[in-house]
Amino acid sequence: MEGGCLCGSIRYRLTGKPFAADYCHCSNCRKQSGSVVVAWMDFKSEQVEWLSAKPSYYQSSEHVERGFCSQCGSTLTFGDSRYKEFTTLTIASLDDANLVKPTYHIHTKDQVSWLTIKDNCKRYLQSVSD
Ligand SMILES: [Zn+2]
Ligand SMILES: [Zn+2]
Repeated sequence: MEGGCLCGSIRYRLTGKPFAADYCHCSNCRKQSGSVVVAWMDFKSEQVEWLSAKPSYYQSSEHVERGFCSQCGSTLTFGDSRYKEFTTLTIASLDDANLVKPTYHIHTKDQVSWLTIKDNCKRYLQSVSD
């Protein structure tokens, strides 16, 4: 699978399948993406190959860095400095976003009130570990 940002200056190739995929309703994802929910997919970092430029990063909390394109602003990655072996990417940045389907929701306590979701995916009030 391949993907990249809107302007095309950042491109990536994935050499495996994600080990997890989720919808995040947290307020940081919402603000940073400009979208009420963000669909994420989790990879081992060695499965993510940057083909040209790399993302720029914004540190949104003590351990979290969010990667984006400094040209067009596309939201691309989420990384936790405590777990550098994992890289999380936006499903929407795939060239074909149909290829990965999230299977659970996190931070549902922050879900916007008018957003109705009817699926059978498991829902976590905060993160999976909380
Ligand atoms: Zn771009
Ligand atoms: Zn989030």
